[in-house]
Amino acid sequence: MVIDCQEIWTSCLENIKSKIGEQGYNTWFKPIKPIKIDGKVLTVQVPSQFFYEYLEEHYVHLLRSVLNEELGSDFKLEYSIVIDKGNEFNKPYIVNLPNNVKSYSNGNSNSMNYTNPFDLQVIDAKRQNPNLNRNYTFENFIEGDCNRLARSAGLAVAQRPGVTSFNPLMLYGGVGLGKTHLVQAIGNEIKKSHQKFVLYVSSEKFANQFFEAIKNNNIQEFSNFYLQVDVLILDDVQFFEGKEKTQEIFFHIFNHLHQNGKQIIMTSDRPPRDLIGLMERLVSRFKWGLTADLQQPDYETRIAIIKRKMQADGIDIPENVIEYLAYSIDTNVRDLEGVLISLIANASLIKREIDLELARETLKNIVHDIDSEVGIDYIQKTISEYFKISIEQLKDKTRKKEIVIARQIAMYFAKDYTNHSLKTIGDHFGGRDHSTVIHAVQAVSDFCDTDPAFKKTVEEIRKKLKLKAV
Ligand code: ADP
Ligand code: MG
Repeated sequence: MVIDCQEIWTSCLENIKSKIGEQGYNTWFKPIKPIKIDGKVLTVQVPSQFFYEYLEEHYVHLLRSVLNEELGSDFKLEYSIVIDKGNEFNKPYIVNLPNNVKSYSNGNSNSMNYTNPFDLQVIDAKRQNPNLNRNYTFENFIEGDCNRLARSAGLAVAQRPGVTSFNPLMLYGGVGLGKTHLVQAIGNEIKKSHQKFVLYVSSEKFANQFFEAIKNNNIQEFSNFYLQVDVLILDDVQFFEGKEKTQEIFFHIFNHLHQNGKQIIMTSDRPPRDLIGLMERLVSRFKWGLTADLQQPDYETRIAIIKRKMQADGIDIPENVIEYLAYSIDTNVRDLEGVLISLIANASLIKREIDLELARETLKNIVHDIDSEVGIDYIQKTISEYFKISIEQLKDKTRKKEIVIARQIAMYFAKDYTNHSLKTIGDHFGGRDHSTVIHAVQAVSDFCDTDPAFKKTVEEIRKKLKLKAV
């Protein structure tokens, strides 16, 4: 039988796509070309040595498990690396993908197969495989004001699971701020020094398993399985909103585990009190332990995160590029990482040094879901330089006229250039509320209509922002 390598690779790609984020997929897998299948070896072509090394370092488990699923565990993958622009390939690298990686989980994915989670063998296997991504550790979770409490509570729980008063530990915060990373780091840390049954599960997966259990009439076994866990990490509990039956069973499991001194760790995208439609008695349980939030990283933390990621990849980038990126991307860490990955890939693909120009180009072409090329911090910095006042003054309570005007202009541009909500903008200006922001935007556009000198000032600032951002 002739196996069509294009066809095989296409289904591998589909499989990969279902398991990782779109950006990672577009950057690292789309450019790969299948070359041939020879016996039990699939050869693919990658654009550069760096590309190959990056794949090996970051995606080896994913590739192995996809290959297992699509072709079987005895298949090997070989890479061919393109030299310069010609079509000659150098000798393919033979890559030893570990054979024991059965399934890939990026932490958020639902790819683990739970068809029969209740049979004893599976439970035993689960003890070995707590569904944790080993890359999520405390060592590579950068500490900053934005996450200090959550991180140190996490560390305390990791050292003495079930024993501290942080039980349950509830972490909340918006997307991409590190909730999954942190709770998995707790799990990994516990596994290092305790013989405990640690289990990470997304709330969605939990709900789906429960649904299956209802269908297959084995709810009892479903809950028995969870009752054996020593450390239960449940990610994104907001998913339980409005799902009363799921909440009910979780409530039962929660109480049992808690009474038996087992540790429960949960995350949510908002504070428990805002979890509409989550049973009150469940929410009240969250109060037994500690609730801590993760906030948007400040400028210094963003700098530290960029440096750490670059260091981990062994890449040097100039200080001004680091600062530019930290200023421009103030949404969340996931966005920041996305841009870094694209930047590295761009540099590798077109064989160019990473400099400010390349960083700007990359940022300009980046996925749309990043709020904007200009972040609030960047606007504040530009305005403070323009009016020669400090950023603190833009945020504090000063009512001096020049400062009020500068502040209003900054809010005006924050509304204009970013997709942040009025509330978030207000938060960035010393916790002012949304009506203050509306008022500022209105005032600036009114002044522009009536005062040509004022309008000129605003246009000058606009030019500066554009100049710097594009
Ligand atoms: P959330 O679960 O809150 O949506 P994640 O935990 O998935 O966010 O984090 C998104 C990405 O950002 C991950 O790759 C994570 O490793 C990284 N990240 C988040 N916070 C930090 C941090 N403080 N230091 C290093 N990396 C971080
Ligand atoms: Mg998450």
